[in-house]
Amino acid sequence: MPSAEILSIGTELLLGHVLDTNSQFLARELAGLGIDCFFRSTVGDNKVRIKDAALAALSRADILITSGGLGPTADDLTTECLAELFEAPLDFDETVFAKIEKFFIASRFPMPESNRKQALRPRGADILPNNNGTAPGIIWQLDESTLSKFAIPGKGKVILTFPGVPQELYAMWNETAKPFLQNYFSGKKIWSCQLKHFGIGESALAQKYAHLLDLANPTVAPYAGFGECRLTVTAKGATEEEAKTIAKPVIDEILQTSADHCYGFDDETLESVVGKLLLAQKKTLAVAESCTGGLVSQRLTDISGSSAYIKLNLITYSNEAKMDMLQVPESILVEHGAVSAQCAEAMAKGILKLAKSDIGLSITGVAGPDGGTEEKPVGLVYIGLATRNAYRDSHLNLPSHLSRANIRQRAASAALNMVRLFLLENT
Ligand code: ATP
Ligand code: MG
Repeated sequence: MPSAEILSIGTELLLGHVLDTNSQFLARELAGLGIDCFFRSTVGDNKVRIKDAALAALSRADILITSGGLGPTADDLTTECLAELFEAPLDFDETVFAKIEKFFIASRFPMPESNRKQALRPRGADILPNNNGTAPGIIWQLDESTLSKFAIPGKGKVILTFPGVPQELYAMWNETAKPFLQNYFSGKKIWSCQLKHFGIGESALAQKYAHLLDLANPTVAPYAGFGECRLTVTAKGATEEEAKTIAKPVIDEILQTSADHCYGFDDETLESVVGKLLLAQKKTLAVAESCTGGLVSQRLTDISGSSAYIKLNLITYSNEAKMDMLQVPESILVEHGAVSAQCAEAMAKGILKLAKSDIGLSITGVAGPDGGTEEKPVGLVYIGLATRNAYRDSHLNLPSHLSRANIRQRAASAALNMVRLFLLENT
C-alpha cells in the first residue's frame, strides 16, 4: 500500500493560535483513498526545520503533502525550501503570474510586488492550480535517479504542496490532487464509500467487523464522532467499475449485519434520510424542543425543500412556554419536572395537536454543564414521538462530562434517529 506523510507548516500552528484542521481533512481523505499515513508533523516558518522535516518524511513515505507557507510574505518558505532541498532552480511561471494578476484585477486591489514570488516554481515540478486564491501549489514527481542523488530510497516519490487557507486547500484537493493520486499508483482506480451508522458505538462496530478490518482490498476503516460511526470501504481495481465490484460483497455484508443501525451512505445525514422518508410517505413532522434549543429544527431545515414536511417547530424552553404553547399540565411540571418522561409525552402530544402534523416529536433534558442533580444528572434526555394513535418514547443517559454542544448534538441525533426508525417500520 502506498504511504503519505502530512507536513503542516506555520509558526501559528506551533503556538496553538490555529488548530491544524488541514491535517485532519487530509488524513481522512488519504484513508478514504486507501493510502497509509504513518507520520504527521508540524514545523514553524523556519527554513532549516522545514527542510529537515520534508527530508525525513520523504525518506519514509511515497508522498509528501505540505500545507501552509505558500503566501507572498517573507515567512512563506515552502517552495523555496523544497527547491533548495533538490537543488532545483526556481523558474518564473508566466502563466501562473498572469493568473495571479487577474485575481488582483478581479478583487480591485493593487498587486504588491511580493506576490511575484508566488509564480516561482521549482524546475521539474507541475502546478497544482488554486482557483480560489493567489497561491498555487505544486505537484512534483521525483524519479529514482533524482532521489538517489540525495540519498533518498525509493523508485519514485511525489510532493504536493497546498496553501494554509482551508477552503483553498479543500478545493485544490478535490479538483486536482485527489484525482491525481487516484491515478498515480499503477494507474489503478480507487473507489470508496462510507456507511454511516447510528445507535452503535465505535468499539462495538469494530468488534462486529473485526474480520473485515485487516482486509487488503477492499479496506474497511471505522471512524466515530458525536455519537455517530462510519465505516469507510475502499477498493482498488483496473477500472472504477471493477473497484466497485470488489467492494460490493463487503458492503452487502455490512448492510445485512448492521440492518437499521446503518442509516445511509456518504453525504447522507440523519436529517436528510428522515426528510426523504417523510416525503416518500407524505407525512409531516412538528418538533417541540427544550434542551436542544432548536438544533433539531435547524438540522431538519438545513435540507432544501424541507418545508414540504416540516409543519411547525417550537423551542419551548421555559415551563410557561411548555404550558401555554403545548398545554403541558402544570401538575406534570410540579410532580415530575420539565425533564421527565411525562413532560416529553405531553410536549410531543401538544405539538402534534397544535401543528396538526402526522408526527409530533419532543426533546427535554439536561444539557449541562450546570443544572444536573443526583436524580437528574447532566446528559439525561427524554425524547417523545406521538402520532394520532400511538406514542413511544426513549431516554438517553449521556456521559455527564460531555460538553453542552456535544450533548445537544447527540440528543438531536437520537431524536432524528427515532423518527427514522418509526418511519422505517412503515415501509
Ligand atoms: P496565504 O497565501 O494565505 O499566505 P499560506 O500558504 O502562506 O497562504 P499560511 O499563511 O500558512 O498559508 O496560512 C493562511 C491561513 O490559513 C492562516 O490564517 C491560518 O490560520 C490558516 N491555516 C494555516 N495552516 C492551517 C492548518 N494546518 N489548518 C487550518 N488552518 C490553517
Ligand atoms: Mg502566509
